[in-house]
Amino acid sequence: MAKRFWDEAAETMARPELEALQLERLREAVGQALKTSFYKPRLEGIGISSPGDVRSLADLARIPFTTKDDLRRAFPYGMLAADRRDVVRMHASSGTTGIPTVIYLTAGDVARWTGFLARSLNATGADSNDVFQNMMTYGLFTGGLGMHYGAEKVGMMVIPVGPGNASRQLKLMKDFGTTTVHATPSYLLHLHSKLAEEGIDPRDLELKRAFCGAEPYSEDTRRKIEALYGIEVFNSYGLSEMNGPGVAFECERRDGMHLWEDGYILEIVDRDSLEGVKDGAMGEIVLTILCREAMPILRYRTRDLSSVYPGECPCGRTHRRIARIMGRTDDMLIINGINVFPSQIEEVIMAMPEVGNNYLILVEKDGALDRLTVKVEIGPLAFADDSRPLNALRDRIRDRLQASISINPRVELHEPGMLPVSEGKAKRVVDERTRI
Ligand code: ADP
Ligand code: ZN
Repeated sequence: MAKRFWDEAAETMARPELEALQLERLREAVGQALKTSFYKPRLEGIGISSPGDVRSLADLARIPFTTKDDLRRAFPYGMLAADRRDVVRMHASSGTTGIPTVIYLTAGDVARWTGFLARSLNATGADSNDVFQNMMTYGLFTGGLGMHYGAEKVGMMVIPVGPGNASRQLKLMKDFGTTTVHATPSYLLHLHSKLAEEGIDPRDLELKRAFCGAEPYSEDTRRKIEALYGIEVFNSYGLSEMNGPGVAFECERRDGMHLWEDGYILEIVDRDSLEGVKDGAMGEIVLTILCREAMPILRYRTRDLSSVYPGECPCGRTHRRIARIMGRTDDMLIINGINVFPSQIEEVIMAMPEVGNNYLILVEKDGALDRLTVKVEIGPLAFADDSRPLNALRDRIRDRLQASISINPRVELHEPGMLPVSEGKAKRVVDERTRI
């Protein structure tokens, strides 16, 4: 049986205690960082040459941010704080935005990461009654193995299938009575179209929950997946630099993701000034990982945009919640001078019931101007002989988009299955302007 808490003392720790623990662990993290060729000169340069030089949590703000470029510059071993012989695992980011970055874990690091995942999964109600099909990529990407270890820890039976091959996924789900899956939201939408093709009613499956993350998705997309399968979808956030999944996870309330503050120090900073913002305000997530022996990272600029939920969660966990990730700072498109996040487009189209399971955003040059085209798959029934309803739908999508993003896009409607699907993170934006 899933317990109310996996680790009650840690999950419900009162704020002052939690902050005292953070300070103690920050000192340890700084101690580890001082062992690395990357951080040593950086920290000494600001007068931190031993862990004791960190006197309060406020001292964190003196430490410079760490960026993805820093990680690349420190490649391969510049940020390694442990003896190489104590490292038992490495992972790498999926490289969505360039050369992948590498992280290292000792056996203790793997155990601690697994612990954060176990507490996350337990909070969703998952336990040894569950059969867990992990549709995320195994290998260097952290979503496969990371989640795998956490799922075993809470006692689920794991089917380590990895992504792709929809027919096989469906067969496994049927044969073994899968109750829980881990996948990108775009893949679950795609899989649903396959169910329909194979004449399977998702309600005949044993499925009851999904962990969805690795890419931004809107609340409407969550609701859509929940309705299509008759399940609960839990938002899962993580990034390889911070171990991977298990950084923040939704509890049974599915209302914001608890960020495990005994493992990470959370800051949200203004995108331009890089100053901390007030709770509730949108900004870039900056994270310090507290309990990683092999590879400390201090004040990492994730480039992910979110905000802190004000108030406490009724579930009793005291760790603050973050809002759904709006996108990455580097996702932002500038179209004829107007800033647009792909998530704003998704929010509009996925709120419309006629819209199907996939879409694509295309930006091109049209003379001196930029042209935005939104390609949208619609439900199978919509392609009837009469084109009037289709034209009306197209106009409606265009008008709603224009109202939301102040750009008048071209809208193309497509039949189900006509737009490209990716097995891992969805590639929703094609920006032809950057092609030479
Ligand atoms: P990358 O994609 O940078 O190569 P990772 O494979 O580590 O590296 O992916 C981590 C990134 O995936 C996060 O920084 C974030 O942008 C995105 N991500 C992860 N979980 C979520 C989520 N639940 N919602 C939105 N975006 C997410
Ligand atoms: Zn909660």
